[in-house]
Amino acid sequence: STKLDSELPKTDLPLSENALVVLARRYLRKDNRGKVVERPEDMFRRVARTIAQADLRYDPDVDVDEVADFFYGLMTDFKFLPNSPTLMNAGRELGQLSACFVLPIHDSIESIFDAVKHTAMIHKSGGGTGFSFSRIRPEGDRVQTTHGVASGPISFMTIFDVATETIKQGGTRRGANMGILRVDHPDIEAFITAKTQTDRLNNFNISVALTERFMEAVEREEDYGLVNPATGQEVARIPATRVFDTIVESAWASGEPGIVYLDRINQANPTPHLGEIESTNPCGEQPLLPYESCNLGSINLGRFVVDGAIDYPALREAVHGAVHFLDNVIDLNRFPLEQIREMTLRTRKIGLGVMGFADLLIQLGIPYNSAQAGTVAEEVMGFINRESKAASAELAERRGNFPAYKGSVYDTPETPYMRNATTTTIAPTGTISIIAGASSGIEPLFSVSYVRKVLDGTELVEAHPLFVQAMEKAGAYSEALLERIAERGSVQGMDEVPEEIQRIFVTSMDVAPEDHIAVQAAFQRHTDNAVSKTINFPESATKDDIRKAYLLAWRQGLKGLTIYRYGSRPVQVLNLKKKE
Ligand code: UDP
Repeated sequence: STKLDSELPKTDLPLSENALVVLARRYLRKDNRGKVVERPEDMFRRVARTIAQADLRYDPDVDVDEVADFFYGLMTDFKFLPNSPTLMNAGRELGQLSACFVLPIHDSIESIFDAVKHTAMIHKSGGGTGFSFSRIRPEGDRVQTTHGVASGPISFMTIFDVATETIKQGGTRRGANMGILRVDHPDIEAFITAKTQTDRLNNFNISVALTERFMEAVEREEDYGLVNPATGQEVARIPATRVFDTIVESAWASGEPGIVYLDRINQANPTPHLGEIESTNPCGEQPLLPYESCNLGSINLGRFVVDGAIDYPALREAVHGAVHFLDNVIDLNRFPLEQIREMTLRTRKIGLGVMGFADLLIQLGIPYNSAQAGTVAEEVMGFINRESKAASAELAERRGNFPAYKGSVYDTPETPYMRNATTTTIAPTGTISIIAGASSGIEPLFSVSYVRKVLDGTELVEAHPLFVQAMEKAGAYSEALLERIAERGSVQGMDEVPEEIQRIFVTSMDVAPEDHIAVQAAFQRHTDNAVSKTINFPESATKDDIRKAYLLAWRQGLKGLTIYRYGSRPVQVLNLKKKE
């Protein structure tokens, strides 16, 4: 249709219509009238050229064009993409390249409103913000200077929420927030249920920070203490199981709150001499110190299969290229705040992860819900983690260690060189996976076939290309069948789909929660930071199922958990085709 053609940017790259729509909306350069004036290949060229420039700081004789060509190739082969802000802002006025920030909030009006202002500045530039509200004194506490009564952390969260809502209009993308409260804060029970009323704190993900002490109290069915952060005094003792059950019930009902195992996050803090970690970024995959920021990037695993096996030499080259790229991003980033610049340059954290894990498994003929999937996850992420460290060490030999190296966990004779305090993170890859045409992050396919609304409102039935390929090869393909699959999402138990294809093409709802957790745990074992993953439950799941999942996640060494029970929110990001 001509209408569509004229609205979508022209390109020679193999980008889906969906990808072109996303790129045109937010990523490609526009003129004053809002007309797109950049093709997708121009965008990748702009990003590659800009990011290659950092090499000149360390080697005046470097062939920058060659480096830029290499980066360009990595991106346009869809083997690696940096997080969205880098694609949007590199080589442009904003120049803010990071997805993740954490801001400190202390127990004073001045500190709270500084953080509101800084949040607005970060959201405007496309970054997401995480905060711990744990230092704010509880509701009903005394306010010295005014002899008034404190309104508590949750009331202040609504201010951040409204600020985010307002900035949304003019910013580069919807700002996202993570709000964290420690489980021993006196307002914890109100916090847990803060989002069960719909239309509240819509711009927040909320997570309860669980401590090891609390988890042990749950297991032993003991009481634990609530502590007023302003005075350090224990104000009450309550049954740990009561609070744990409230979390479970609320998550069962609405998918929130999430949980983070805070002590575990701090056990993995590579720079404990700089302070304690109190919060993560909005989607939970990146724990950061106050005022730290981090830029992420993801390797598209589906692009590394040759003759039914992973092409490890090619993967090694991509990982080294990606670490080089992400380290350059730090040098070129235009930071929204001086404090953020300082902290970020001290630790130089980067977060390389993956997308297309489900695509990889399909190409290898391995079901997502099998022990083999866990083995592949360990192998491939183990490799990426090791190679990313090797790449960071090589960079450090030429560029120097990260400035806070002394006193860090890397400060040992075995690791004399390290350019980045962390190298690996598994991001959700919500948008960059669309651009790359990959399955998102480490998630299974959401659906084998789905309905997509095109720009002019017509509905198209589409299917995963590897599924179409497999069905054609088996002589079992038909369009009518695709429609029927789109209504169910899953192909399990469909006679028209050969058994072997049913086995390989499992969707998130076909995968049992414990298998979801097993994959998350396999990736976490080889990831410095954390892993973004949703543990899907069927609508019929019970509260006890969810309780068990939290305990399993804790025992498996996860840093956090996000669960979602199908149908528990009125508006879901992804929906199956409604039956007419
Ligand atoms: N993020 C955000 N707003 C959004 C989506 C993402 O601020 O609308 C931030 C947030 O910190 C999240 C991180 O970007 O944890 C990475 O998200 P994702 O991998 O989905 O981003 P992509 O690079 O694919 O756009």
